[in-house]
Amino acid sequence: MAVPQRRTSKTRRDKRRTHFKLEVPGMIKCDNCGELKMAHRVCKVCGHYKKREIVNQ
Ligand SMILES: [Zn+2]
Repeated sequence: MAVPQRRTSKTRRDKRRTHFKLEVPGMIKCDNCGELKMAHRVCKVCGHYKKREIVNQ
């Protein structure tokens, strides 16, 4: 079985994990109600997008 020849140093291990983080979705404030909503999505609180486009509530 393949086994690492050297122990990975703390620095190397930690540098690898810098890419290992929670992906934060683009959150912006709704133009209409000011709630945080996902960018490029209809606001799920008030149903608005691009200052109009009303989804029936
Ligand atoms: Zn809204």
